[in-house]
Amino acid sequence: MLSSDKIEDYIRTVQDFPEPGIAFKDISPLLDNPKAFQQVIDELAEKSAPYGCDKVMAIDARGFIFGTALAQKLGVGLGMIRKAGKLPYTTVTTSYDLEYGRSTVEMHVDAVEQGQNILLVDDVLATGGTAAAAIRLIEECNAKVTALAVLVELKELEGQQYFKHIPVITNVSC
Ligand code: AMP
Repeated sequence: MLSSDKIEDYIRTVQDFPEPGIAFKDISPLLDNPKAFQQVIDELAEKSAPYGCDKVMAIDARGFIFGTALAQKLGVGLGMIRKAGKLPYTTVTTSYDLEYGRSTVEMHVDAVEQGQNILLVDDVLATGGTAAAAIRLIEECNAKVTALAVLVELKELEGQQYFKHIPVITNVSC
């Protein structure tokens, strides 16, 4: 049994990390509880089922944790969208603004196939810049993002404004 039924109770908010004004959503307590971790993966798999996917693409770095579990649960392959300079093969690249700072992400050119349906996965949807950049990379390679699955959506930051056409599947909206 979970000691709490609410997934929110396994996400710790750390104020002013990594910069003043940021309320950081720390997923460590959730990962430390196997039942809570299983529950979020089961929920995300169930909610994403109607959209269909041929492959999961997960975003560096905490997105890898949830993306890996979800790909295994759905029985599909996993690909990585990484921060600049980490991938060994030929990449496609794009830059974007973060809630804090600026970043560049990359994907192997052959990570997705033309016409593939992709479930994009990350831990937190904040301003939406990271997910929008990942969607650009996937669409540049002629695949389609059918849904974005995140553990936490920070609703007041209105991250989905960048990609209104793509449904967001989430465990916790706050
Ligand atoms: P964004 O591009 O603003 O939607 O930011 C999403 C990415 O930054 C995700 O990969 C998150 O891991 C991380 N991130 C942004 N804001 C937060 C936050 N408040 N708490 C935890 N992670 C965050």
